Amino acid sequence: MISRIEQRCIERGMKMTEQRRVIARVLSDAVDHPDVEEVYRRATAIDPNISIATVYRTVRLFEEANILERHDFGDGRARYEEAPEAHHDHLIDVQSGRVIEFQNPEIEALQREIARRFGYRLVGHRLELYAVPLTAGEDGETQ
Ligand SMILES: [Zn+2]
Repeated sequence: MISRIEQRCIERGMKMTEQRRVIARVLSDAVDHPDVEEVYRRATAIDPNISIATVYRTVRLFEEANILERHDFGDGRARYEEAPEAHHDHLIDVQSGRVIEFQNPEIEALQREIARRFGYRLVGHRLELYAVPLTAGEDGETQ
């Protein structure tokens, strides 16, 4: 079966080698935001002949074709996810590295309004919240 990312590559007329297909499948199956090392680990579990250089090249290729989105969640490592159909933002737990995806219509509207006030129409944004888990008795409102 063809993975979603492979399908998007085909639609863009990209040449798909067997190794690219494996990497496309790994990225399509990912429900997290893996870095290149992690993509490499998962890809070589399917095809041990795939090199880390091939993973780097392929991920960059997919990113340039707007099939993948690259994120930097503050630890200096590039992380990837399939470019989502619907926009979402990220909250990053800086202790565990857990990443939560969220959408908030008020934040979206506020950002459009800020751009408008400066005489601009918003065409995109990146928002990352860095957080630590609340401890008992803390309500998160008073910091
Ligand atoms: Zn995400």
